[in-house]
Amino acid sequence: MQSDEKLVALVTGANTGVGFQIAKALVEDNYLVYVASRNLDRAKAAAESLGENAIAIELDVTKQDTISKAAEQSLSGYGKLDLLVNNAGISHAGKPGRTMQELSAANRPSTAPIEEMRTVWDTNVFGVVSVTQAFLPLLKKAETARIVNVSSALGSLTLNMNPENPYRSAYDVVYGASKAAMNAITVAFALELENTSIKISAVSPGYTATALNNFEGTDTVEEGSKEPVRVALEKEGVSGLFTGPGQQVYPW
Ligand code: NAP
Repeated sequence: MQSDEKLVALVTGANTGVGFQIAKALVEDNYLVYVASRNLDRAKAAAESLGENAIAIELDVTKQDTISKAAEQSLSGYGKLDLLVNNAGISHAGKPGRTMQELSAANRPSTAPIEEMRTVWDTNVFGVVSVTQAFLPLLKKAETARIVNVSSALGSLTLNMNPENPYRSAYDVVYGASKAAMNAITVAFALELENTSIKISAVSPGYTATALNNFEGTDTVEEGSKEPVRVALEKEGVSGLFTGPGQQVYPW
């Protein structure tokens, strides 16, 4: 099936949490949305609940074969991609259900297990580069396109260096630094793409109650998805910006 009129989006980690809400908002905005999940059954369940404009697709951001296959599938489907949302992310690689306090204690720079760091960075950092590289040819086929990297205020080095920032104690080498690296990658792509029709931004949902933080976040997923959705749908937005809830501009 070919479509010249519909805008096409792909959201990674769209089976639950903030990613699911972003996919839902995009479907409501009349996008055709590839609901990507590392588990095809979870992708199908999410896509079915979103209706006929949602298409389930298997994509594990740490597995190059699934990334390449998803890109081929998208190419043969609509031949272009107007929007890529790099949302998939993990905060740790250990047993589920740990409190944020337990995670923070386990992930201090002096003691964090390197394997845990490697696993988290594989998803949050290398996964973002692999997925973006694979989908760039499709993004280039759209008239104008946008990439939204779902980051975190914890990834702002400038905010972490401010002694008045109450959240900076949560900055660690496993998750926090992975989001700083994601920000660095966003800037690198923004520079390479600055003379093209592809815009790229980093966006923080804010502290949102999801499995990522043992549901300790203070905002709902509806609230958390607002800023990523706003940026995703921006027609005239700028590239290379890092924003958070309420359109707040964060320093890199
Ligand atoms: P979540 O509910 O745990 O959702 C994370 C999603 O990423 C799930 O769909 C998960 O799939 C998927 N995922 C994990 N590893 C993957 C992989 N290797 N390949 C593909 N998908 C993978 O957490 P969330 O809070 O919605 O997180 C979404 C994004 O928001 C993340 O990038 C996170 O860092 C960012 N963020 C969240 C908060 C917050 O307070 N919640 C704050 C700042 C930034 P499974 O269901 O299969 O595990």
